Amino acid sequence: MRERIRKGHQRVAPNMEDYASYRRRFSWAEARTWLDGLPGGAGLNIAHEAVDRHAAGPLRDRVALRWLGRDGTTEAITYGSLAERTNRFASALRDLGVGAGDTVFGLLGRVPALYVTALGTLKNKSVFSPLFSAFGPEPIRARLSIGKARVLVTTPSLYRRKVAPLRGELPSLEHVILVGGALDGTLSFEELLAGGSPTFTIPPTDPHEMALLHFTSGTTGKPKGAIHVHEAVVAHHATGRIALDLHDDDVFWCTADPGWVTGTSYGIIAPATCGVTSIVDEAEYDADRWYRILEEQKITVWYTAPTAVRMLMKAGPELPRAHDLSALRFVASVGEPLNPEAVIWGDEVLGLPIHDNWWQTETGGILVSNYACMEIKPGSMGRPLPGIDAGIVRRLPDGSIEEVKAGEQGELAIRPGWPSMFRGYLGEDERYRKTFAGGWYLTGDLARVDDEGFFFFVGRADDVIKSAGHLIGPFEVESALLEHQAVAEAAVIGKPDPMIGEVVKAFVSLHDGWAPDEALRTALIGHARKRLGAAVAPKEIDFLTPLPRTRSGKIMRRLLKARELGLPEGDTSTLETAP
Ligand code: AMP
Repeated sequence: MRERIRKGHQRVAPNMEDYASYRRRFSWAEARTWLDGLPGGAGLNIAHEAVDRHAAGPLRDRVALRWLGRDGTTEAITYGSLAERTNRFASALRDLGVGAGDTVFGLLGRVPALYVTALGTLKNKSVFSPLFSAFGPEPIRARLSIGKARVLVTTPSLYRRKVAPLRGELPSLEHVILVGGALDGTLSFEELLAGGSPTFTIPPTDPHEMALLHFTSGTTGKPKGAIHVHEAVVAHHATGRIALDLHDDDVFWCTADPGWVTGTSYGIIAPATCGVTSIVDEAEYDADRWYRILEEQKITVWYTAPTAVRMLMKAGPELPRAHDLSALRFVASVGEPLNPEAVIWGDEVLGLPIHDNWWQTETGGILVSNYACMEIKPGSMGRPLPGIDAGIVRRLPDGSIEEVKAGEQGELAIRPGWPSMFRGYLGEDERYRKTFAGGWYLTGDLARVDDEGFFFFVGRADDVIKSAGHLIGPFEVESALLEHQAVAEAAVIGKPDPMIGEVVKAFVSLHDGWAPDEALRTALIGHARKRLGAAVAPKEIDFLTPLPRTRSGKIMRRLLKARELGLPEGDTSTLETAP
């Protein structure tokens, strides 16, 4: 191994000192006692655990968030100040007549208002739902509509470009609150905060009341709104302590987009419940800036994603060499497979290995992880969190489920019952029920486990696309392409990409009279970008008439993908049309 560039990383005893014994004695009931609960036994509310209990105690003046603006502005917000601002927002919602169970969407970048919105909403027992600001108008409209949004908090520019044109199609959306100046038909975030009471008592909250709505994509149908409840905070906090090894005096940086579940569970909730200081960087990825932040902010625990790690690897070892990263103590990654080379790169260039962990929107928090107390097996997602039973299963022809032997591939499955388990897909009971079988929650991921209990990711069991860490439903992209008058049929696949995991590629067949030429290709990509946003729209389009379908009419995306990659076509017995 090459000489380590960074030396002198702090050493602290991990919160979990030994996996096997900790796993034996851990219980979720005990993890619940690490939190306070609402005063007077009035239940459990995420915002109380994340903010109010610190504001009422010795952490009142600790910086909860240090915000680094794109333009160089910075702002430090203490737990005390966060408590007051979230009180004001909760009071303002109440004054608007927005109450328990009403959905408040955030379409915001990494700005302090995001934290105030999310936590103030939870104080008011309304439901917080984040959206990617890179989405185009159509994915935003679909999610606001499925989530029956009553309130949307966003910026004037995002509102003008992405919401105003479709507002007429969103009858439930009563209040649009703009951060940084109101427009016609909207309210000002700053004025609402100024007018809201600085005190607010969180009403009694049943731990099973809905708190968060996170959208995720399936292969077919509309985006799914995964329902999470206030009890999820038990898992957010416990995983913050056990999987991310957060200690009281840590400076934590989660680089996730606020529109993704990671941006809420680990960008907002987990670090705050642990009372640490979070660094919030408004700007997008930039290698030089990121190393500067690690150094200047003295980040101790860093939670990032494989796409970002690969980009840093590409930027070369000179940059990290020019920075003092010795404050860094623990690095973790989530969202896509972390290549073994990336783990080794971390070790050599950062002087620390990168700890991969696995979870998904439905699990609400980390369930499989490499821990501070363990040697990492490069290429493995790690071992199940204490309190979690994970298995690799296969469905038998009679519909029953059996566990497969160590080393064999199957579907990653979890025994239900952990606190941050999703409690439904909004309005889609049948779709929810289908994810459980034989006493397991079926994750939709293919994986294997070795005889030491380390899990290895193999791939998705469905056609969902993972691009730069984010799930994209092929159906949503196909639907947008079909809106174009030239397109008769569309099929969308993920094409492997060394940097971002997969890029979105579309195959389209055209209506008679349209020429499959470059001009049309450019027009279709432009149309998709306008509707869906650049992050979701296809980067490549091929013309193909007709598209391969099964006899039952389903487009065979798998076949298109196999052909694209030059792989065996597999079983094509149900193929109806052979182009
Ligand atoms: P999302 O619900 O958008 O967070 O995406 C969850 C999906 O991301 C999982 O079902 C996996 O397919 C993938 N994923 C998450 N973490 C990992 C990981 N550590 N390794 C491989 N794939 C992962």
